[in-house]
Amino acid sequence: MAQTMVIGAGPAGLMAAEQLAAAGHEVLVAEAKPSVARKLLMAGKSGLNLTRNESFDTFMGAYGDAEEWLHPIIRAFDAQAVMAWASDLGQKMFTGSTGRVFPRVMKASPLLRAWLTRLDEAGVQIRTRWCWQGWRNDALVFDTPDGERLCTPDVTILALGGASWARLGSDGAWASRLAETGVALASFEPANAALSVGWSPYMQTHFGAALKSVRWMAGGSHSRGEATISAKGLEGGGLYSLTPSLRNGDPLFVDLVPDLGEKDLLARLASKNPKTTLSQWLKRTLHLPPQKIALFHEMVKRCSVPKSHEALAIKRLPVSHAGLRPIDEAISTAGGVARDALDSGLMLTARPGVFCAGEMLDWEAPTGGYLLTGCLATGRWAGRSAAAWLDQ
Ligand SMILES: Cc1cc2nc3c(=O)[nH]c(=O)nc-3n(C[C@H](O)[C@H](O)[C@H](O)COP(=O)(O)OP(=O)(O)OC[C@H]3O[C@@H](n4cnc5c(N)ncnc54)[C@H](O)[C@@H]3O)c2cc1C
Repeated sequence: MAQTMVIGAGPAGLMAAEQLAAAGHEVLVAEAKPSVARKLLMAGKSGLNLTRNESFDTFMGAYGDAEEWLHPIIRAFDAQAVMAWASDLGQKMFTGSTGRVFPRVMKASPLLRAWLTRLDEAGVQIRTRWCWQGWRNDALVFDTPDGERLCTPDVTILALGGASWARLGSDGAWASRLAETGVALASFEPANAALSVGWSPYMQTHFGAALKSVRWMAGGSHSRGEATISAKGLEGGGLYSLTPSLRNGDPLFVDLVPDLGEKDLLARLASKNPKTTLSQWLKRTLHLPPQKIALFHEMVKRCSVPKSHEALAIKRLPVSHAGLRPIDEAISTAGGVARDALDSGLMLTARPGVFCAGEMLDWEAPTGGYLLTGCLATGRWAGRSAAAWLDQ
């Protein structure tokens, strides 16, 4: 029986720990925070979207540039496997109209409780308030409530999370520790991020209002998801999937009437009574809600859309903004341990015996269950690879 350590008790780390225990090894999980899986619990506050029930090819398309290398890893623990895993933990699941899969209770706490009980029964030990500081020679160094501790396990799995929502534990501080030992890293970038917009006072009455039935467009990407007007700007799943294009600086547009063709729009406009103002017409003929009309006027003014182009701007309204919100506010992060720094088992080539999993790896995906599925699948893969490496 080998001694193994997993550092970081999020979904990726707990999944890796479970694999090592199942392979018969002693497992110690070290977690910096006073309790485990804080981000998973936070994810459950807005409805824990565990995975997405759709064809495997469509599912993998969500991982963009990382699709190819994640393919075997997620194939081995795909959406169906995630659903079966959650059911095994006593969760009744349901699939929403867009294929998103949630536990019926929507939150993460019952699933986490059941999972921790199962891990405890498998002999996994968890130490909280153990913050990993890096290596001293070959020993892992931890700050613990009892002072500094040095550990030299036979195998280590790092599952330290990305670099957003630092108060939940994923502060990205691990990046400099890995860089010092020669591990290649891609710089952190916000993913699934909201946009900053300095609204005019006129928009204040619409803060909190949802923009539904819209189509967002940036670069080659588009999305039919919702967004909400907030005091800071615009946020919501509809925009999050466009983050890679917005990071590249592609301009953002919104179609306020995606189910109405341009020809139909122009035909309706041609029959508009000249005495009717554009706002009245948007409300009475196109039935746009107040927040859409407000956004239309705000952006037409800010982007100086000429009068002659105003009508067409209903279908392609330029959205002027001040860029993505700061990385700590992002739902997830891109960047982290580069694929080239790992072998096919997710072991660091610069540090044999050290494996990595979860959001700390350089991949990104839109919200919609792809993140948690990716974290669980890479955690499982790293745990199994580590067990196989020990066998050798
Ligand atoms: C508000 C919100 C809602 C979300 N909703 C969803 C959703 O519905 N569906 C979905 O798929 N995804 C969602 N996500 C994303 C998802 O929660 C994350 O992608 C996932 O939790 C990442 O898992 P992980 O195990 O890689 O890292 P984390 O969950 O971040 O866990 C990493 C752990 O490592 C610990 N750690 C870090 N550094 C150290 C150190 N030096 N020493 C010891 N421990 C350390 C941290 O404290 C943390 O507990 C959401 C995220 C947020 C913020």
